[in-house]
Amino acid sequence: MLKIDNLQAEIGGTRILNGLSLEVNAGEVHAIMGPNGAGKSTLAYVLGGRPGYEVTGGSVEFLGRDLLEMEPHERAAAGLFLGFQYPVEIPGVSNVQFLREALNAQRQVRGEEPLSGGDFLKLAKEKAGLLKLDMDMLKRHVNVGFSGGEKKRAEMVQMGILDPQFAVLDETDSGLDIDALRVVGEGINAIMRAPEKGVLLITHYQRLLDYVKPDYVHILSKGRIVKTGGPELAQQLEREGYEAVAA
Ligand code: ADP
Ligand code: MG
Ligand code: MG
Repeated sequence: MLKIDNLQAEIGGTRILNGLSLEVNAGEVHAIMGPNGAGKSTLAYVLGGRPGYEVTGGSVEFLGRDLLEMEPHERAAAGLFLGFQYPVEIPGVSNVQFLREALNAQRQVRGEEPLSGGDFLKLAKEKAGLLKLDMDMLKRHVNVGFSGGEKKRAEMVQMGILDPQFAVLDETDSGLDIDALRVVGEGINAIMRAPEKGVLLITHYQRLLDYVKPDYVHILSKGRIVKTGGPELAQQLEREGYEAVAA
């Protein structure tokens, strides 16, 4: 599904990604772990096509297409979803409005009819239920006054509604208490664990991986993958730390 080959990227002339290679097949969940500043969020932004992140080498193929040639909205319409470490607030726009616009914009790019208000609300209720998020939260302005956990659950509702083929989730577990962590983990499984889907799960901690079992665990250090293993690698990291494992 996703084939990253020798990817190099810079921010403001500083090299951050340093020859990163990674391949995710359909049906797989890959975890990326690594110390602060390793380039994890940079990888997510480059995959999403965020301005200011300059790719200076390498290639990224997504579902057989050259991802780096696509505009951000084309990437989303092609089935790529990005979950952010720091979700933005959008005062004046309700979650319901925002999510319906986002979904219908993607449907338009794919040449599909927009979803009616009624059908959309049905879909939104189903996904909110999955994430145990009250529908009242979805009527409020996007993320305004939301707790950290509510932001992450609202983002997972968004993922459920957009139903992407591939999700890159950047520290979706940050700021979650134990109960929210379980709900979010189970939500990721319900939405993304399918033979035709793939997930890149970026996390600092092993605990989310108790709920979302990765097929592979990669350690990112200084902008490249320095070690790959199975779920046991995450356990080892938790016990011994990055320095001992990735040195
Ligand atoms: P991680 O998510 O693994 O903690 P990041 O991708 O956020 O790491 O950051 C990787 C490196 O890039 C860090 O050294 C960080 O300081 C640097 N960096 C991130 N964003 C910017 C920016 N906008 N301008 C300059 N340097 C940046
Ligand atoms: Mg960080
Ligand atoms: Mg980060």
